[in-house]
Amino acid sequence: MIEFQREDVYIVEGTCPFCGEESVALCEEFDSEFCVECDRWLETACTDPFCRFCAKRPARPTDIEYIRTYKR
Ligand SMILES: [Zn+2]
Ligand SMILES: [Zn+2]
Repeated sequence: MIEFQREDVYIVEGTCPFCGEESVALCEEFDSEFCVECDRWLETACTDPFCRFCAKRPARPTDIEYIRTYKR
């Protein structure tokens, strides 16, 4: 069971389309799902430069400190 340090990041149902693992998590801060194993977002960022989610979303989930500190 994967647990994060923050309640706004949590594992959701589903499998990663890239690795097939049940390691999909949702990051509420950026309103996007990502794969813990692949360390990649599963949703492409929109092109709106003022989008409050995508505009500030880091390239990789582990660029976010509270996600990186989970990583083994
Ligand atoms: Zn994956
Ligand atoms: Zn967006």
